[in-house]
Amino acid sequence: MISIGQELIIPPTDGVLYKWKEGDTIEKIAATFKADPHDILLYPGNKLDLANPVIEPGTYVMIPGGSREFRTWVVPTIPRGPAGVNKSIYGPGACDTSAGGAFGTGTFVWPTRNRVLSGNDYWPGHLAIDIAAYTGDPIYAADSGVVVYAGPVGGGYGNMVMIDHGNGYQTLYAHLSAWNVRCGASVSQGQVIGQAGSTGRSTGPHLHFEVRYLGGFVNPWYVLP
Ligand SMILES: [Zn+2]
Repeated sequence: MISIGQELIIPPTDGVLYKWKEGDTIEKIAATFKADPHDILLYPGNKLDLANPVIEPGTYVMIPGGSREFRTWVVPTIPRGPAGVNKSIYGPGACDTSAGGAFGTGTFVWPTRNRVLSGNDYWPGHLAIDIAAYTGDPIYAADSGVVVYAGPVGGGYGNMVMIDHGNGYQTLYAHLSAWNVRCGASVSQGQVIGQAGSTGRSTGPHLHFEVRYLGGFVNPWYVLP
């Protein structure tokens, strides 16, 4: 949970806040995020010595103009309902959930084994968190509910699972390499629903995780334990 006094890292410019790793170079990271190395060097907040720009591993570095994915379209929140209607509107992975199903507990668990971000945090330009994951890592249902979408979808999300928790909340898991849940199935909190990947517009395996409430976006940090 976010507590009073905790410092939030919200990039003041368009780009990606990146945690420097051993062996990274400015040129390599600029290429990864399709950014200009000079913009990284010259960004005042990075406080780099232009004569000797050494960056210690663990330092957060702003990549101005950098992007891990291009959020050109946000998939709509998909309600429970008949598949025939949903497929024509939302895509081939829309599920028939007219029979209802499981409801959420109202609390959430992490959808991944680890809690390390890779690239984008939640900020106005990215209404989700990108969690570091290797291709094939298990992805867990953050709460119980009904699968309202499972499969490929437009907008750069690649393979996506969306779960309607039946209490106003929906969670969305994107860029999956595979999904392990039947469309329309009820799932339990913590159940494996798919595997991490890099499908859609993504430059490396990670989980793009969104939390929606009553159709709006919620910062996942506010609901994750
Ligand atoms: Zn993302």
